[in-house]
Amino acid sequence: DRFCRELPKIELHAHLNGSLSRSTMLQLQRYYADAGISDETNAFFDEFQIGAGDTRNLSDCFQVFNIAHALTSTPETLKLATTLTLQEFQEDGCCYIELRSTPRDTSHMTKRQYIDTIVQAMQKSSQSLSIISLLIVSINRSNSISEAEEIADLAIEYHKKFPNVVVGLELSGNPGCGKFENFVKIFSKTRTAGLKVTLHCGEISNPEEILQMIQFKPDRIGHGTCIHPKFGGTDDVWEALCKSGIPVEVCLTSNVNTKSAPDYSSHHFKYLYDANIPVILCTDDKGVFATSLSQEYRICLDTFLLDKVKIASLALNAIKYIFAEDKRKLLSDKVQNFIDKNCV
Ligand code: 5GP
Repeated sequence: DRFCRELPKIELHAHLNGSLSRSTMLQLQRYYADAGISDETNAFFDEFQIGAGDTRNLSDCFQVFNIAHALTSTPETLKLATTLTLQEFQEDGCCYIELRSTPRDTSHMTKRQYIDTIVQAMQKSSQSLSIISLLIVSINRSNSISEAEEIADLAIEYHKKFPNVVVGLELSGNPGCGKFENFVKIFSKTRTAGLKVTLHCGEISNPEEILQMIQFKPDRIGHGTCIHPKFGGTDDVWEALCKSGIPVEVCLTSNVNTKSAPDYSSHHFKYLYDANIPVILCTDDKGVFATSLSQEYRICLDTFLLDKVKIASLALNAIKYIFAEDKRKLLSDKVQNFIDKNCV
C-alpha cells in the first residue's frame, strides 16, 4: 500500500463533482448552513456513493451528481471544493492532475464565473500545494448545441488568458444521450484554438460512434469499455484503436461499480495492456466510487499481478500524454527518481 501511495502519480481523468469526498461534502454543507443559503440537498450522502454490488446501473449513476452539484452552486463553495479536492489528491501522492468539470449556470453564478472560480482556486492552490493542477473544460452530451458552443467559446477564451491552466475540452455525460457527430464542429474549433481533446468513448456498445471518435484523433479517450469485440465492440473498431496509438484513461473501480465491467479480473485493462495500447490509470469519480488513485494502482497490481517496475511504469508512461507538455521533463525525472530508489 505504501508503495502505491508514495509513487508519484498522474491523474488525467477526474470529474470535480464526482471527486468530492465525504469530508469535503460535509464542509460544503456547513458552508451553506453558515451562510444561511439552502443547499437544496434533499438526498443523503449515502446515496452519493456507489460501492461494489450497488443495484444502480450506469444510467442511474448519473443522478448522483445532482447531490454534488447542490453543494457547489456558489463561487465560494466551488472554490472550496476545488481546493480540498486538490489537497486530497496531493495527500494521496498525486503530483499532477488534470481536473475536469462542466460549467453550469446556477442561481448564484454563470458559466463564466464557474470557470473563473476553478482557475482562481487552482492558481491560489499552486502557492501552498506542490501538486500541479490544470483544468479540462467538460461538455455534457446532454447539453444543447448552443450551450456546448457557449462552453467551448469560454474554454477558448480562458485558454488564451490562462494557457497554463485551461488546457483541454472533453465530452462526457450519460452515453445514452446525445451524439458525438453533433459536437464535432465544436471540438474542431477548440482544437484549432490550441485546446487538447479527450472524449468519453465506448462506455456503451456503439461501434459507429466509437469509429467516428477514433477517426477524429482525440489526444486521449476515456474508458474505452466496449471497444474490444469481447465487450460489445467489433474487430474493426478494436483494430482502429490499436492502429491509432490513442491512449486510454482507464477507471477500474468506476467500471466495476457501475457494472460496465463484471469484475476487476475481467476488466478490459488487460486487453488494452496486452495490445500495447497506452493505458493511464485514473479514478473518474473518487468520491462517488470511494476510491483513490493509489487504490486504483494497488488494485491493478493485485489483479493483474504486475511487478513494482511495471506498476511504476504506468505512472511514468502517463506523463507522455499529459496536456501540459512543458511539465513532462520535470515529472519524468521525479517518477524515474522514485523508480531508481524503490524498484531495485
Ligand atoms: P462535473 O463535470 O459536474 O464536475 O462532474 C460530474 C459530471 O461528470 C457528471 O454530471 C457527468 O456529466 C460527468 N461524469 C462523471 N463520471 C462520468 C462517467 O463515468 N462517465 C461519463 N460519461 N460522464 C461522467
